[in-house]
Amino acid sequence: MLQRRSFLGAALAAPLAYAAGSFTPVWAQNAPNFGTPTLPSPGFRRMKMGEVEIVSLMDGSARRPLGEEFVKNAPLAEVKALLASQGLPTDYVDVPFTPVLVVAGGRRILMDTGLGEFGGPTTGKLLENLRAAGVQPGDIDTVLITHFHGDHINGLRTRAGELVFPKAQVMVPAAEYNFWMDDARLAAAPEAMKGAFNNVRRVFANMPAATLQRFEAGVEVAPGIRSVAAYGHTPGHTLFEVKSAGQTFMFVGDLTNVPALFARNPDWAVTFDMDAEAARKVRREVFQRIVSSNAMVGGFHFPFPAFGRMAAAGQGYAFQPQA
Ligand SMILES: [Zn+2]
Repeated sequence: MLQRRSFLGAALAAPLAYAAGSFTPVWAQNAPNFGTPTLPSPGFRRMKMGEVEIVSLMDGSARRPLGEEFVKNAPLAEVKALLASQGLPTDYVDVPFTPVLVVAGGRRILMDTGLGEFGGPTTGKLLENLRAAGVQPGDIDTVLITHFHGDHINGLRTRAGELVFPKAQVMVPAAEYNFWMDDARLAAAPEAMKGAFNNVRRVFANMPAATLQRFEAGVEVAPGIRSVAAYGHTPGHTLFEVKSAGQTFMFVGDLTNVPALFARNPDWAVTFDMDAEAARKVRREVFQRIVSSNAMVGGFHFPFPAFGRMAAAGQGYAFQPQA
């Protein structure tokens, strides 16, 4: 393994002061009273970057009513005003889930896996869209996981417990694994968070040693793909930087939830950020670096096709989806 340190590694390697808070998985939030989100068709989009192909694969989208709790540190009226200024609805937020496939050097590398069989009716479409893009689950060589929230890992196993990507090596951040698989932390966790800990065990506890690989921050996880520590959203939340022919694509996972709120206002904390202060800091650092290097960006909760560019906008950044 290469030992190149990420630009964030040194700053963020320090242990986190993890503040336990209430935790409600985003994928549990559906709001039938506001209707259901419209999913794009087809639910995949290809892009070429140098020698690699990047395919965004929609797993689906969940609509949640917008309440005081969604942004932890801003008044609801300000949150609604920011949405309205972008022509977006103010009573609810649509949160999409978009894993990314990178095809590089004949290898198929999937980043995050969506909700699988564990979400609402407008989710769980990853496999359908993967097949529509011409790829079978058995063709996936590597699965890279950004963090262990259910919307990112539940697609790894069926309800019956079978591995969805039978030939894939599943690579996870060591810091994330060590946090969630720690029995003492499970025992000490508030009741509202125990489900998230147990869900991690359902997915990873019996995963064959030959399948599961833990990696340290800053290492190369596949040819041309480097892991970048971005701790805060979760204790081991990790980004993936893909380089080809002098160009860079940064898959930022949950560096922000929906960018219309949390890229435009990077200091706002979504309810799911476990360490809001660390998340805020790394969000600004990474977005600034993406803008100044004109890198491509992909975000798991970004609007379809979930990849494009970032531009400076006001106090923060605006996501510009690829046309
Ligand atoms: Zn997420």
